Amino acid sequence: MTQRFQFSVGATDGKARTGVIDTPRGQIRTPAFMPVGTAATVKAMLPENVRDTGADILLGNTYHLMLRPGAERIHRLGGLHRFMNWQRPILTDSGGFQVMSLADLRKLTEQGVTFRSHVDGSKHTLTPERSMEIQRLLGSDIVMCFDECPALPADRARIAESMRLSMRWAQRSRDAFGDRPGHALFGIQQGGLERDLREQSAEALTAIGFDGYAVGGLAVGEGQQAMFACLDHAPGMLPADKPRYLMGVGKPDDIVGAVARGIDMFDCVLPSRSGRTAQALTRRGAVNLRNARHAEDPRPLDEACTCPACRNYCRGYLHHVVRSGEIIAAMLLTWHNLHYYQDLMQGLRTAIAESRLQDFIRGFHALRAEGDIDQV
Ligand SMILES: [Zn+2]
Repeated sequence: MTQRFQFSVGATDGKARTGVIDTPRGQIRTPAFMPVGTAATVKAMLPENVRDTGADILLGNTYHLMLRPGAERIHRLGGLHRFMNWQRPILTDSGGFQVMSLADLRKLTEQGVTFRSHVDGSKHTLTPERSMEIQRLLGSDIVMCFDECPALPADRARIAESMRLSMRWAQRSRDAFGDRPGHALFGIQQGGLERDLREQSAEALTAIGFDGYAVGGLAVGEGQQAMFACLDHAPGMLPADKPRYLMGVGKPDDIVGAVARGIDMFDCVLPSRSGRTAQALTRRGAVNLRNARHAEDPRPLDEACTCPACRNYCRGYLHHVVRSGEIIAAMLLTWHNLHYYQDLMQGLRTAIAESRLQDFIRGFHALRAEGDIDQV
């Protein structure tokens, strides 16, 4: 096993590519989907079961972990991998995005962001330097630069100003991160939907030099069409020999479209969150198990799926435990959803390797267009 962080591109098909990220904690096959373990747990799942779905890497949230239980405490308890019993790679976000979306009474300055915790009202400051320190205390394998990201739509002046601040913070993040063999620091491209600002951001990041690059500031309310229009050019501005990560995306069709446009890594709460709200994500689209049409259905959720929810239970049972508010409903549907996402990523990787990505994408959309199986 390597002691270095290294990315190698395997096959390509159009702009899409397969690859492998080698880290001291194991390999990450790309395109990769990272389940979200917000508070040091992928909700309703044991870590070994998350691994069983095919996940190579998890995402942890700096904002949540710094507030509760605190980065210093996690460090004293052996670091995040040991704390949550996940020995494979972990990527942590910088906290910047969630401060903006969750915290109260934020104050943004050149230095950083001061805010009050949404948990207990306590006052905190996040700067690029403190974000790097927290992510180091957690033991994160892939560390994200501290950045600032306006919600869309925002006017061009606001997006430009925010992007330039994020680029200054990217340099400070790089300086504070230092030299940590085996650990990676990713830069985050900003610039909203403005192509020239995306170019400027990519140039600034490339000049600093990072181990990977994220396309940030998308999936914040602009819609899929606008996001894809941005992804038609944004990934190509970033170095081809480094992994490209689309943050916070997304729905299955978002992921498929982004892979075709050259993205290698994704994270999203959708499969795990949906699993707790009776929604199954399947090859035929979303299925709401709360719906009475499933009450007498003896068939599995998806006959082709090999997850425990589909192998061992019928739709009638899943409907029953959802309606009864049983904990196993969240467990089974989260398991299925994460399994489906990892299956989708494996399907994409295989299709790219066999140069038949366009056929795969046609089949993906055709089955979704058919919709769920007819009621019994
Ligand atoms: Zn399943």
